[in-house]
Amino acid sequence: MPSEAAASARVLCHDHNVVHVHADNVLRALTDDGAFRVLACDTTATVRGAIEAQKPETPELTRIFADLLTGAILVRESMSPDHRLQAILQGDNPRTRMIADTHPDGSTRGLIQMPPDVKEMTIGEKGILQIARTLHNGSLHQGVVAVPAGSTSVSPALMAYMQDSEQTVTMIAVGCHLSNGEVAAAGGYMVQLLPELAEGPLMVMTERLKDFQDIVPLLAQGRATPGELLAETLFGMPYTTVSDSEVHFGCRCSSERLAQSLASLPRADIESLMEDGKTLDIECDYCRKRYEFSLQELRSLIDAN
Ligand SMILES: [Zn+2]
Repeated sequence: MPSEAAASARVLCHDHNVVHVHADNVLRALTDDGAFRVLACDTTATVRGAIEAQKPETPELTRIFADLLTGAILVRESMSPDHRLQAILQGDNPRTRMIADTHPDGSTRGLIQMPPDVKEMTIGEKGILQIARTLHNGSLHQGVVAVPAGSTSVSPALMAYMQDSEQTVTMIAVGCHLSNGEVAAAGGYMVQLLPELAEGPLMVMTERLKDFQDIVPLLAQGRATPGELLAETLFGMPYTTVSDSEVHFGCRCSSERLAQSLASLPRADIESLMEDGKTLDIECDYCRKRYEFSLQELRSLIDAN
């Protein structure tokens, strides 16, 4: 029996006309002294949607996948809110890979790629995090960092990326609370030190965030809404919330897009897809939506090639 949580996630991802029982969002705030920028997000429904589609087999895999999705959303919202961002995490075993793909309208999807005989993905030995985001001029900014040794969570890799590739000192904590195998809550925050920063506030903030390095306990207690995370991380500092944006699980696939990628295949490959003389049934790897291409449609792709 699917649980209520999973059922509501399914409603969220397949029917956009229903009343959303749980809408995810990202809050962005600036401290009034100009020292810090903080982003905090609730990604519960987004993560549920992606997990429903990808079906990670173990709790550990679920957590890493959830944290990659949440991290990608935070990095996009901070570095490129108006452009697409993709985060690719490769595990210690280079055949294990996860992708998070998040867009400016908030739609976010993910992909887990594991060999059939492998059930877990560890990242603390040879893991690699790669982030690609589109710049204003249309070119691609890409950064690759090694997952810091011994990491069991994605947060240290996200911080290493921000430091090495974006040159900003950033503290990030992402997390996911699982209850009976279901995602009960997912979210995170990011604190960025702005260039105006003096030494004093940095030390105060570093000290304070030691209490919030692991946000899973807060998520488990239901005390990690974006508003609460802002209030906790910025306690005692006057700040202003400057934006509130929506995020949701959503896929960009369409019949047209699939046709385009089929059309880019070599002619012989398309012909081999037509060999059994039946309609081609293809599933989107990200959202598991099914698409059909008739023999006639496949033939027209060859003709257009
Ligand atoms: Zn799709």
